[in-house]
Amino acid sequence: ISSENQSILSAYEWLTKLYHHLLRYTKDGKEGYSYFQSRNVSEHAIDEFQLGFAPNIKDFTAEFLKKKGFHQQLLVKAGLVSLQDDNSVTDRFRGRVIFPIRNHLGQTVGFGGRSLGSGEPKYLNSPESELFQKGRLLYNFDLAKKHIRKESRVIIFEGYMDVISAYQAGIKNSVATLGTALTEYQAKLINRYVDTSILCYDADKAGLEATYKAANLLLSVGSDVKIAQLKDGKDPDDFIREYGAEAFENEVIRSSDTFMAFMMRYLKKDFNLSLEGDRIDYVEAVLKQLALIESSIEREYYLKELSVEFNLSIETLAQEINTLRENSG
Ligand code: ATP
Ligand code: MN
Ligand code: MN
Ligand code: MN
Repeated sequence: ISSENQSILSAYEWLTKLYHHLLRYTKDGKEGYSYFQSRNVSEHAIDEFQLGFAPNIKDFTAEFLKKKGFHQQLLVKAGLVSLQDDNSVTDRFRGRVIFPIRNHLGQTVGFGGRSLGSGEPKYLNSPESELFQKGRLLYNFDLAKKHIRKESRVIIFEGYMDVISAYQAGIKNSVATLGTALTEYQAKLINRYVDTSILCYDADKAGLEATYKAANLLLSVGSDVKIAQLKDGKDPDDFIREYGAEAFENEVIRSSDTFMAFMMRYLKKDFNLSLEGDRIDYVEAVLKQLALIESSIEREYYLKELSVEFNLSIETLAQEINTLRENSG
């Protein structure tokens, strides 16, 4: 690691402590504290996730770090401040609650900052850098790792707040992507620790599409995938707040779908099954997904289901699957 990156890590470490301290103990951070209170985030969780508050002052962060001996240029490089046309500096994170994002070593390498109200963008993240690569990091992975390993499964969420709510509900084996689609790098990383990945994304159109892609990706790297779906446009944090931890565990996590059950339902939305042509296309689309399943027992189970639902012989379906599997090598 370069000495420049070493300094950037050190700047993030100072700021994580400062923002957390402000939120937790000072008048300057009261707004942030109240915000988390209004979202039922406990003090314990605030400490565990080192949540903080960046005051709405133009160069609060820049001044603080300058006093600590950091050069302005480095802070620009770290994505913490930006240089204005008149050569003055402006903090990147202002008037936002701060979610420190740590790498697998537990070092803070970036921030997610959420506006308190309806200010846009809702979340502002540190910019991409050598240290902060959104496609290679997972929120909470460092703390979740031992739980993930112990339980041999991980729950993957879309948002920071979903992870924190789950944590408060006693679910500690969860991570979140950083506002981007799950990458192959992340899928492989996860697969080194678990047998089963449970996807629990937001119950909206974007969440559904993202689930479809992530599920296929996880399956392709060899992970068993389950899909925990919510209803009515909710996200996991909303659900836990409204119905509680027990309902989340029982009604969402434990009743999650298998990959194929999800796919069969997901693919249906593109077809009108009262039309003969669509029925054939649908069956073919399902067979394509089914061909990706390694377990022959599982394949057979869903073949039977298809054969009953569409009144097709198992032999025909099995033959089709074998062709698909051979062709995909
Ligand atoms: P909240 O509950 O605080 O409103 P959320 O986590 O439910 O937020 P979503 O809109 O579901 O927010 O987005 C999921 C994740 O995507 C966020 O946690 C964040 O990492 C990322 N994200 C959301 N909006 C933005 C944005 N405008 N820019 C960058 N990343 C974003
Ligand atoms: Mn969403
Ligand atoms: Mn959400
Ligand atoms: Mn949310």
